[in-house]
Amino acid sequence: EQERLAEFGSRPAATKDGFAIEIAANIGTPQEAEGLPGKGAEAVGLYRTEFLFMGESKLPSEDVQYEAYRKAIEAMEGRPVVIRTLDIGGDKELPYLDLPAELNPFLGYRAIRLCLDRKELFLTQLRAIIRASAHGPVKVMFPMISGLEEWRAAKALFEEAKGGLAAEGVQIGEDIEVGIMIEIPAAALLADRFAKEVDFFSIGTNDLVQYTVAVDRMNEKVSYLYDYFHPSVIRLIKLVIDASNRHGKWTGMCGSMAGDPLAAPLLIGLGLQEWSMSPPKIARVKETVSSLDREDCLRLTERLLDLETPGEVRAELEAYLNRA
Ligand code: PEP
Ligand code: MG
Repeated sequence: EQERLAEFGSRPAATKDGFAIEIAANIGTPQEAEGLPGKGAEAVGLYRTEFLFMGESKLPSEDVQYEAYRKAIEAMEGRPVVIRTLDIGGDKELPYLDLPAELNPFLGYRAIRLCLDRKELFLTQLRAIIRASAHGPVKVMFPMISGLEEWRAAKALFEEAKGGLAAEGVQIGEDIEVGIMIEIPAAALLADRFAKEVDFFSIGTNDLVQYTVAVDRMNEKVSYLYDYFHPSVIRLIKLVIDASNRHGKWTGMCGSMAGDPLAAPLLIGLGLQEWSMSPPKIARVKETVSSLDREDCLRLTERLLDLETPGEVRAELEAYLNRA
């Protein structure tokens, strides 16, 4: 069984009728990137940089960050690495930033909000990422974007950092793609507008579900309501993928839905291009994808879009995957 799965892991992922998708890995440290190409990851779809900040007793310098990003990029041997800028706040704390306690941390001062407020901190990280881009294909992604002004402000700081490095004569990579995470319903609903300006989307279902159904992703008491097969979540995902396709952009997913084989027929049917997951999930998802027929998934997805509850969607998907 292990060997059979490893066999799937090493091959690119495609459906029976030849629809290829990119399978990528989520990492939290550069060490986790080591050996990933051998485990079937065609890219890093989400590098959660906050762990670099959480492991220190003070803000990591530009050079310390540069070395970490470079290490992850080199481990991927020419494959793309999507680096997410600092996503702190919510459940992730940084004691040395001395942030005030909040009544609703998940709705508060976090991620891009903090970065746009503490521009020096943000510019330092952007410079480190852009410098690291000299060592391989890098894409930058901003977390927790809720509206166009935030995206534009973040993009302007990215351009400022890039311009500064160019003026200093520092070598940097060409064509660094810049995209946003879709993890707030407000951003998903405006995907058609964002799609004109961003290079790509990556759907963070962990937060997108939390904010769509108003269920704290950590709260066991209400976890029965937390489900990425909620029809509202599926509609939001569809909006995003359709908008990116209309504008010639691409959409990935880095929340845990991407690593769930049960979701695979739906994600194929919706046309998701890049699937990023924790590395142990890769082989199983590739196996499931290779058993699917895209035309069939398109028909199934039309039926799924018509259902009314998460339970109905799950039941239909289970029946579909268990069919003889
Ligand atoms: C998400 O919200 O789905 C996501 C991938 O980001 P994180 O889990 O780090 O919040
Ligand atoms: Mg998130």
